[in-house]
Amino acid sequence: MQVLTISKDGIKNVNLNRRKAIHERCLNCCCWHPGEVAKCALKKCPLYQFRTGGEKQDAKLRNSAIKNYCLFCMSGQVGEIAKCPSNKCPLYVFRRGHQERIEKEHFSKRQINFHQPIQEQRLW
Ligand code: SF4
Ligand code: SF4
Repeated sequence: MQVLTISKDGIKNVNLNRRKAIHERCLNCCCWHPGEVAKCALKKCPLYQFRTGGEKQDAKLRNSAIKNYCLFCMSGQVGEIAKCPSNKCPLYVFRRGHQERIEKEHFSKRQINFHQPIQEQRLW
């Protein structure tokens, strides 16, 4: 799925699946140092076992890991995950389990809405 996401070089359009999205999130967490992702010591982080993106992964556990990480990110408030405003987070389109098809349909529209006020401010 092509999504705009935050990267070392700023916002870029990347082809993400859950495996890559977790790795991107971990790179973001470690200031884009892959070596630090591998050395991560936070074994209780929900993304821990999927962080390097290289090993064989259980798809169901990976899906749950994303949802649990988002729950942690939103301080345990389940309802806030759906309302997450960080649409450049690599996990954004995957944060609600199997909702990504719906998210994808609305993603472009939301991005336009999100950027519109900023673009208008620049014009003035
Ligand atoms: S597993 Fe968690 S703490 Fe470790 S790099 Fe990934 S996001 Fe950060
Ligand atoms: S998608 Fe939103 S809730 Fe999930 S990790 Fe990213 S910023 Fe947090």
